[in-house]
Amino acid sequence: MSEQKKVKRKRIEAAGAMQELMADYYLELDHASRTGEKKVAWCSSVGPAEILRALGFLVYFPETHSAMLGATRTATDCIPHANALGYSPEICSYLTADVGAYRQGFTPLKRAYGIESIPKPDVLVYNTNQCRDVQDWFAWYAQEFDAPLVGIHTHRGVGEVTESHVASIAKQMEEMIAPLEEIAGTNLDLEELQRVVALSRQCSDLWEQVLGTAAAVPSPLTFFDGTTLMGPAVVGRGTQEAVDFYGILLAELNQRVKDHTGAVDGERFRIYWEGMPIWGRLRAHSELFAGLEACVLASTYCNSWIFSAFDAADPFMSMARAYTELFIVRSDKAKEKYIKEMLDRFQVDGIVYHNARTCPNNSNSNYGMPQRLTTATGVPHLVIDGDLNDLRCLSDEQTNTNVEAFIEQLEERK
Ligand code: SF4
Repeated sequence: MSEQKKVKRKRIEAAGAMQELMADYYLELDHASRTGEKKVAWCSSVGPAEILRALGFLVYFPETHSAMLGATRTATDCIPHANALGYSPEICSYLTADVGAYRQGFTPLKRAYGIESIPKPDVLVYNTNQCRDVQDWFAWYAQEFDAPLVGIHTHRGVGEVTESHVASIAKQMEEMIAPLEEIAGTNLDLEELQRVVALSRQCSDLWEQVLGTAAAVPSPLTFFDGTTLMGPAVVGRGTQEAVDFYGILLAELNQRVKDHTGAVDGERFRIYWEGMPIWGRLRAHSELFAGLEACVLASTYCNSWIFSAFDAADPFMSMARAYTELFIVRSDKAKEKYIKEMLDRFQVDGIVYHNARTCPNNSNSNYGMPQRLTTATGVPHLVIDGDLNDLRCLSDEQTNTNVEAFIEQLEERK
């Protein structure tokens, strides 16, 4: 068996600035929710946040809140409270953990920022580009808060993204403007929308460059760092604050590349992570791989907040394209082409697929993709059974043994 070394985690200095940004973000939402000074829109993580910001809403993303439940290992205890309402343990554990936490009057925002409760929505806006679960999730809260619910219904399993795909989504976006204007109490200013889309594009470009630094050998960044550093790209896209933060982070990572400072000491194996993180095991998995001199350095998940199609000159069509070109929306053929490019770009030795029990949408190991890609590229793969939030769905012992055996397999190929 490959021997696991004790590792010391290397702190990314910019993480301090990120924590400040996240604290400001949640405190502003909490203030708005308590005082009513600004309207609050809930948005699915790859929903049309730019439209909401341009209309003056503060935007809250329940998935980020649920990921906090996962990362603080409080999600598993919350899930049965949603199961009791008829939401199965087999469906999205972001949904069940979040609704269960709400039913108990619990939020990790309390411990992190002294915030008593999630912000009340004036409107909830979803896009089914990622899954149907966000629609059900938001519908539950819409009823709970007696707030309006608006959604975009997206094509799924898209091969080539065509003009007709894009036009149909852009039309849905345009059609949601009138009801949103009514809730916002203001009309959409096209110039403001263009400004926000331009900021989202800048944020996306910087985030792409941040993730691109991992192509260096050794990589200055791990996937596990990326899962938390992506917070501002999720909740802050369309804001100057997120752009400023990624400028700082990128400078730090470029310096690491210049200095040949790897995120993992003695990096010997370069791993691609396909699927969602297991939030309650970020640290354990980071140490597991680093202890085996394996750097998990690139992932589909972190890349999902790169929206290179945003174009301020054509906001509706470009937003529609960006939110349809997403990996999760695409056919297996398109996904495999994408992963192949990533394997080359990041000089990957092996792929780990996370088969998340409650998120088939982000699990790509069930229909032969790992085998097809290994045959096509020669890059070995490992499938880990687990879940994003429900820790009852994973066996740490089995994961550790399987990862150690996988690294040994990679060792033999060196
Ligand atoms: S993509 Fe998966 S994890 Fe995300 S909301 Fe949908 S079912 Fe849940």
